[in-house]
Amino acid sequence: MDLATASVAEADAQSFFRRCGRILINGDFVPPRNDQFIPAIDPATEQVIAHVPAAGRADVDTAVAAARNAFEHGPWSRMNPSERARLMYRLADAVERNMDELALLETLDNGKPLKASRSIDVMGSAEKLRYFAGWVTKIGGETASLSAPGDWHAYTLREPVGVAALIVPWNFPLMMAVTKMAPALAAGCTVILKPAEQTSLTALRLGELVQEVGFPAGVVNIVTGYGEIAGAALAEHPGVDKISFTGSTEVGKLILRAAAGNLKRVTLELGGKSPVLVFPDADIEAAVAGVSRFIFSNSGQVCAAGSRLYAHRKIFDALVSGIAEKAKSLKVGPGVDASAEMGPLVSEEQLDRVLGYMRSGIEAGASLVAGGSRLDRRGYFVAPTIFTGTTCQMAVQREEVFGPVLCAAYFDEDGLDAIAAEANNTDYGLSAYIWTRDLGVAHKLARKLKAGFVRVNGGPLDNALPFGGYKQSGWGRENAKAGIDAYTEVKAVAIAL
Ligand code: NAP
Ligand code: MG
Repeated sequence: MDLATASVAEADAQSFFRRCGRILINGDFVPPRNDQFIPAIDPATEQVIAHVPAAGRADVDTAVAAARNAFEHGPWSRMNPSERARLMYRLADAVERNMDELALLETLDNGKPLKASRSIDVMGSAEKLRYFAGWVTKIGGETASLSAPGDWHAYTLREPVGVAALIVPWNFPLMMAVTKMAPALAAGCTVILKPAEQTSLTALRLGELVQEVGFPAGVVNIVTGYGEIAGAALAEHPGVDKISFTGSTEVGKLILRAAAGNLKRVTLELGGKSPVLVFPDADIEAAVAGVSRFIFSNSGQVCAAGSRLYAHRKIFDALVSGIAEKAKSLKVGPGVDASAEMGPLVSEEQLDRVLGYMRSGIEAGASLVAGGSRLDRRGYFVAPTIFTGTTCQMAVQREEVFGPVLCAAYFDEDGLDAIAAEANNTDYGLSAYIWTRDLGVAHKLARKLKAGFVRVNGGPLDNALPFGGYKQSGWGRENAKAGIDAYTEVKAVAIAL
């Protein structure tokens, strides 16, 4: 970004900080009824940069009523698909047009490097909106051939599930909001979005863009607030038909219980402790770069982070020393610095959590190869960390750290079944990574791994691939057609001719 662009983005962000104390309900930005606010903290400076509403139950009730009214009485659910798609494309263009400001807001709120905010979070969100806008005109049912004696015409309809509550975390704030909003809107649902308390700024700015491009009132409602209050009110609300949540497995279970009241449809995208399996024939240079990227990017605050490395003994030392070199040379600093490759953790709470896991690894007797501590400077910075000699009895290897912490161990001439068993030895099952040049090993192992997504030699995430977890990593899938299906009901219609 050149200096002139940077100062425009800075001025835009400053001006937004003066407007972000309102929530979006039924097409209007309004203050929270309880007049309570949450400070937005820049994790690189520990300074308060703005205040966002801490909405209460009364605000949630109004938002749900607005979404219900917009759903039942239109125009959204009755608008023809191409009109709905057009609005989504316009929103994508508006996101792209405002990239510099949105990226700066994301970096100031979450900490991640500006370069990543721009290319991954903001451009990725625009692309996702376009991907799902493309689906709007392709949603439909099927005809069925009935076996009952007689002359029948039978078919299915795919209908929007109704009012959807979307509760998202702080690691990819805008992207997570769009990951849920885009398929919900494409399916014809109306939504209430609850961003994470630590990172609500880009969601509120997105709300302004929703208004600017002309979405009808009540289709998109954005209610910022605390999970235990605003989030919980949404999860148990009888006026909500569907809840889609991304966050911790612990809160996922709470949501499931709260959703039982009216048997909401539920999608859960939860934590992970994803294995990374490196075979001796792998391209070691590529593996070093890939393994480092999948654990250190976004400061390790990624649900699909590759946090458990298992590599063949023959290449283990070379691999680990390569990753350690990367870890030590990674430029850790404020996301607004152009040279920063890794930013701070999102909050003081997350810092304490990650430092706690680092200490627990050291106390349990694991060997520290890199990092292991906080940086000696203001801000919630930690050093990229690598442990060897960890076992599955150790919390740092068993539990989701959600920080830049890799646990590395080796295997010998074990068969694929034994390697898969080790990889599957976790309550989670979100992702798995394989590095090998042997296609037979890659395909056979892909079948044996209990994970929703297997990435071989750095295979990418893509909107066209379903994303979600086995076991306690969640329920359901996002992205691709599965992502649309998650916001629809199927209705069967049978007619005697
Ligand atoms: P979290 O509590 O699960 O937060 C996720 C979202 O759920 C936030 O919007 C949160 O609001 C909301 N929430 C919290 N309690 C709720 C409740 N009782 N009912 C409804 N909604 C509720 O995650 P966290 O506390 O921010 O992070 C803790 C750990 O979760 C991390 O260290 C990490 O291990 C894991 N995590 C995983 C992911 C992922 O992508 N899988 C993402 C984030 C965190 P508040 O912001 O107000 O809490
Ligand atoms: Mg929380």
